[in-house]
Amino acid sequence: MFDHATNAEDVQDLLLDHEESPRNRGRAIDATHTAVRRHPLCGDEVAVTVRVKDGRATEVRWEGRGCVLCRASASLTCEAAEGRPVAELSATDDAELVHCLGLPLSPAKRICATLPLTALRAALAIRKHFPPEPESSSASSCAPS
Ligand SMILES: [Zn+2]
Repeated sequence: MFDHATNAEDVQDLLLDHEESPRNRGRAIDATHTAVRRHPLCGDEVAVTVRVKDGRATEVRWEGRGCVLCRASASLTCEAAEGRPVAELSATDDAELVHCLGLPLSPAKRICATLPLTALRAALAIRKHFPPEPESSSASSCAPS
């Protein structure tokens, strides 16, 4: 789900851009899924809220605090996730994000970078059954023969 940056300078610019003007910050309206994940060693905490409709994450928002890497990654992850099928998001693994960032990351910093994605996957896993669609009138009204 992530666009791959081409080199380290691009990645630095990308992260700086997300840090300066965070995307998708706040809470999804009428959220159907939510989860919070923490990385106590660094003090990172990210809450992700998602509104799922017809099997897609129509709105993905994050709020929380943490280091620059964690906040930039949260912005990047939520922006990339919005509008995508839940099945695709649930199947996106940490390695894909780390590969996209292309930065040498220590194990601790790797957790900072992937915390928002972890929270997103957790949110989508918590509530497996989507809210029932409102009954359409056409389904219940049979034309008299
Ligand atoms: Zn951190």
